[in-house]
Amino acid sequence: MSTASWVARDARRVWHGFTQMATYADGRPVVVERAEGRELIDPDGRRYLDAISSLWVNTLGHHLAELDEALCNQIGRVAHSTMLGNGNTVVVELAEALAKVVPVGDPRFLFASDGATAVEQALKIAFQYWWNRGDRSRTTYLALGGAYHGDTVGALSVGAGGFGTDLFDPLRFPGVVRTPGYGDRNWLAKALDVVESHGSGLAAAVVEPLVQGASGIYVADPEDVHAFGKACNEAGVLLVCDEVATGFGRTGTMFASDQCSLTPDLLCLGKGLSGGYLPMSATVASGAVADAFLGDDLGPETLYHGHSYGGNALAAAVALRHLELFEEWSVIANVAERSRQLHRRLSDLRALDAVGEVRVCGLMAGVELAPGQPGARRGRRVCAAAVDAGVLLRPLGDVVVVMPILTSTEAEIDRIADVLEAAIAGVCG
Ligand SMILES: *Cc1c(COP(=O)(O)O)cnc(C)c1O
Repeated sequence: MSTASWVARDARRVWHGFTQMATYADGRPVVVERAEGRELIDPDGRRYLDAISSLWVNTLGHHLAELDEALCNQIGRVAHSTMLGNGNTVVVELAEALAKVVPVGDPRFLFASDGATAVEQALKIAFQYWWNRGDRSRTTYLALGGAYHGDTVGALSVGAGGFGTDLFDPLRFPGVVRTPGYGDRNWLAKALDVVESHGSGLAAAVVEPLVQGASGIYVADPEDVHAFGKACNEAGVLLVCDEVATGFGRTGTMFASDQCSLTPDLLCLGKGLSGGYLPMSATVASGAVADAFLGDDLGPETLYHGHSYGGNALAAAVALRHLELFEEWSVIANVAERSRQLHRRLSDLRALDAVGEVRVCGLMAGVELAPGQPGARRGRRVCAAAVDAGVLLRPLGDVVVVMPILTSTEAEIDRIADVLEAAIAGVCG
């Protein structure tokens, strides 16, 4: 069966997220049948270099012998058993391995399936933390402009909106104080003002440390992020670091918090946690936060929250092997080298009239296109041209996001840059 007929069947029955289904089939979607390494392959055998890491989740590549083996071994034991009031050996092993690398003191792991639910859990833990401690005044959250924390209603409430989600504004919970994001040169001073003026009412501050991804890859100065975390700490405001996008090597260190010398009270992990294989996320709480929930059986201090598939054993087995491979393959060192190359190559694109700012951190990059005529949809058209040339890209508005898989080679980074350059020249003239 050809790719075209798969697209027709797909458009008829599958509802795609963030996608206008009336025009889905006209947008030349890539329908994946299989993959090898960093390439996705469609039913016609056409290959596409995955330059968005399958929407930022993939770290080491697709269909890897090592991760496939970890998954198969676990299938031979058990696929899933509940974490509500019970345990699973591979999940214990994963929590122990993660405890050695996360930037959280005496960490405890509450597993879920998506980044948004990891954020929901963090918001509820922060709220109840103060309640358990007898403090009824800390009920609000500080969040940044341009923030993205996921699409469930709670995560949407701390997110800044946009992407056509403004109609949900009436559903957002109140009590979110917002200050400008990293796109504003003075974000730190403005955020520090709010910490000072609202500090005693804030349950938590929620940030994407170092890089705001979905708002268009805005990069902060690590020292500023550190200063913000310190101020929260001094004001007694819990610091929630959403590292769903930045975690697992993406910014050049295992976690972006590491570069900012931050030790969050709550850390949200998702996307790269299972290497892009299976839906798994986690909310990591410091020992001090988790201990505030200790009390009598069925007592009010208990966190009454949990997801059916949280701590899935197959995902845990893959995530555990994934952590080992990070070490064995010196992935962080490759990110540093490829990041320098990507920075150099994308910065050269600024010679093109159609290219504005270029922002790079680790292997996260945004190339901002000048908007062109109204309705020009340059971002979409440039990415469509790249897809035609065999490199899978996806824009955020007029920002072309380049998010290579962390094991990318020098030749692959060059290919992404070459294809993007030709696409911009072709579309924008
Ligand atoms: C993608 C993302 C989320 C949401 O994760 P999902 O798995 O899509 O729910 C949350 N926060 C950040 C920073 C993200 O980039």
